[in-house]
Amino acid sequence: MNQTPHEQNPAIALPLPTHPVQRPAHLLSLTFHGLAPGPRLLVLGAVHGNEVCGAQAITALIEEFTRGERAIERGTVTFVPVTNPLAYQLKQRTGERNLNRNMAPSAIPQDFEDRIANVLCPLLDSHDVLLDLHSFHTGGAPFVMIGPSDNRGQLEPFAHAAEEMQLALHTGPHRIVEGWLETYARGVQRRAAAPATDASRRAQTLVTNPNYGVGTTEYMRARGGYGVTLECGQHDDPQAVGVARHAILQTLALLGLSPLPLVAEPADREILRLVDVTDREDANDTFIREWRSFDAVSAGEVIGRRQSGMPVKAPQDGFVVFPNPRAEVGQEWFYFAQKRA
Ligand SMILES: [Zn+2]
Repeated sequence: MNQTPHEQNPAIALPLPTHPVQRPAHLLSLTFHGLAPGPRLLVLGAVHGNEVCGAQAITALIEEFTRGERAIERGTVTFVPVTNPLAYQLKQRTGERNLNRNMAPSAIPQDFEDRIANVLCPLLDSHDVLLDLHSFHTGGAPFVMIGPSDNRGQLEPFAHAAEEMQLALHTGPHRIVEGWLETYARGVQRRAAAPATDASRRAQTLVTNPNYGVGTTEYMRARGGYGVTLECGQHDDPQAVGVARHAILQTLALLGLSPLPLVAEPADREILRLVDVTDREDANDTFIREWRSFDAVSAGEVIGRRQSGMPVKAPQDGFVVFPNPRAEVGQEWFYFAQKRA
């Protein structure tokens, strides 16, 4: 390895694990405490193990803070570069299950992700704001996901919609997506009414449980905080790391943790509301073409075909979102979104 200027003035090195010799046994988090009071921000990378842009952006910024090139003056920021270390080690989305579902502490953990949740949930509890950094499989522009409007309902009561929208706008992307948990819960209700017969009992229990839609941001809101999921770009897009980095720095600026200039929010924002989810009912259900997230469709346009040959059509003018051609039977095939009225 070449000498770098920092080897004369050694900083804490924070390499991402590249040569794991065993199954991960710990979760790394690092907190910078400003010396003045302020909000507590949590930044997560690699909740999905093959989504590494957040981990890379976090690691670079930790080094910059550690070297003294940047400062946290008030509040605290905690960085978790790799939130699912097993999935990260395996270079895949999940370890034993999707960490970003069914997020809750468990008295009797059943799998690796349950054990991570038992450490991660107290970390979420002890912060006010969450920035969760992801990437996606098919091409397209970055987008950011927010929670519900302020409400006192049963499913997802919330009182920080305005702050959360500010955060979403300052992370950078002009496209904002809302309505995830509500739409997911509708899918859960439908699955519960018509259970798939070939799914394993545990998988079936999970996908028919409304709590299964609860990921990091939903958990954060349920505990009185707020947060956004930033989808920084395609998994292998080199620009995704820059998107993640920009979002972290702008969040630090917005919350006043770090003395950084706040960039104006995008003027041409587009807010899309998820309104429905369609499950794959058979392994022979196929899309009519290779959809990318946010491809526009007209009312009645054929999106895919069931195994029986029956077309699956767009209910109204809108957008195909999160299409998954390899979805498991009985699970989400694609979402349908519309522009917020
Ligand atoms: Zn993800």
